[in-house]
Amino acid sequence: MTEKLTHTPSHAPSRGPRSLIFETGAPESRCVMPPAPDVPGIDLDEALGGALRAEPPLLPHVTEVEIARHYSHLASMNFGVDSGSYPLGSCTMKYNPRVNEDAARYEGFAGLHPYQPVDSVQGALELMVELAADLGEVAGLPGVTLQPAAGAHGELTALMCFRAYHVDRGDARRKVIIPDSAHGTNPATVAMCGYEVVTVPSDEHGGVDMEVLRAALDTDVAAFMLTNPNTLGLFDPNILAITDAVHAVGALAYCDGANLNAIMGISRPGDMGFDALHINLHKTFSTPHGGGGPGAGPVCVTETLAPYLPGPVPYRRGDGTYDLAEPALSIGRVRSFYGNFGILVRAYTYLRALGGSGLREVSEQAVLSANYLKERLREAYDLPYDRTCMHEFVLSGSRQKRENGVRTLDIAKRLLDHGFHPPTVYFPLIVEEALMIEPTETESLEELDRFADAMLAIAKEAAADPDLVKGAPYTTPVRRLDEAGAARKPDLRYRPEE
Ligand SMILES: *Cc1c(COP(=O)(O)O)cnc(C)c1O
Repeated sequence: MTEKLTHTPSHAPSRGPRSLIFETGAPESRCVMPPAPDVPGIDLDEALGGALRAEPPLLPHVTEVEIARHYSHLASMNFGVDSGSYPLGSCTMKYNPRVNEDAARYEGFAGLHPYQPVDSVQGALELMVELAADLGEVAGLPGVTLQPAAGAHGELTALMCFRAYHVDRGDARRKVIIPDSAHGTNPATVAMCGYEVVTVPSDEHGGVDMEVLRAALDTDVAAFMLTNPNTLGLFDPNILAITDAVHAVGALAYCDGANLNAIMGISRPGDMGFDALHINLHKTFSTPHGGGGPGAGPVCVTETLAPYLPGPVPYRRGDGTYDLAEPALSIGRVRSFYGNFGILVRAYTYLRALGGSGLREVSEQAVLSANYLKERLREAYDLPYDRTCMHEFVLSGSRQKRENGVRTLDIAKRLLDHGFHPPTVYFPLIVEEALMIEPTETESLEELDRFADAMLAIAKEAAADPDLVKGAPYTTPVRRLDEAGAARKPDLRYRPEE
């Protein structure tokens, strides 16, 4: 069936038989040839008091060219933003400019030790103070901590500040409301923070149902957590009424800022009435992600909440030098030192390279790209929420499932044969057979068209030859995997005897 492929994906790795690194090379092969020692040798086992292992470890013996090819081959089996489009909705897989990497590798940043005295790390502190001010400006929320290591960690940090704020007012509330379109980290955060999760359904336009929200709000509610634009890629037009209603019962409004890429330089969560926001630097501010990190999830809060932020917070002294301070009512540290500093350098570089107007252009372009793709695909797939979208949109594969027995998972797998990373699938949970597509601003019109053409071709394939789509992928190093087994029982050990 592979002959039915329309084209060979550009990222297709060479798939000739290739042995494992352990099966490559020969006992006498070496990568490096150190110079002959100019000091007398010692008996290592004797020096270690007989602690030397009896059997040498099983390490590969390979030449330099063999190891270079080994790693190049592994890299070619992976799919990343540098291999092709990666429209993974909600994840903002934009291109990561190389200048960010250059800056993070400057000796003056990369060579720092977090225990160095403050007067020897003035440049690093200055960078953090400026980054925090810039992020606070984008958010419209002046209090900033750079410590959290990821978005979910930022959510937890903010909710802990909320709890400290309520407790300080002698007002121990128990519940946090979230919409049913929320990212899974939101309810997880609420539970970790010891609050009770109250889920409210979205209305038929994909927004917050005001009547349901009003009915759920009472003086036992500590906060409402909302993603705006939400995970359907839709901006909630009632946002001011929402935050007003939340504040009216003394609760706080939290914005999950993972979708900041849609609104930078255009509107600010602080101006919408939110009290706190986390920012995923590894999404919006172009630091590499995937594979579990590192990332950074700074949190921006109102002036009222700033005293609760984790410490230490870098600040600028009157004489222009920099120092660290502990906020007056701090919830304490949420991470060692100052967070993932290398990620902060990358985000700072990105921000400075673009400037305010550049950030606005990023969002405008991201929104335009998403709407363009939505319009190109709307006939071939169901579009459950037919509104102008923000930086992403959600299609449904329901028609293909109903008419041809082809599921969204099959469509996603088939996209791999066409050379694209699939979109996010089966999320948000409120859309059946969901395909959540976020092209980002860094894809050219030509690339957007190639992606749309592939999606349209797959819709045709699903109708004409459903088995072709159901059997995909055909061109990847491995075909369909036991994904649950791989996640729950990973077996990554090489056993030479087998
Ligand atoms: C990615 C994401 C998160 C969590 O961020 P992490 O950095 O992965 O912890 C939370 N909410 C939304 C909407 C997201 O897309």
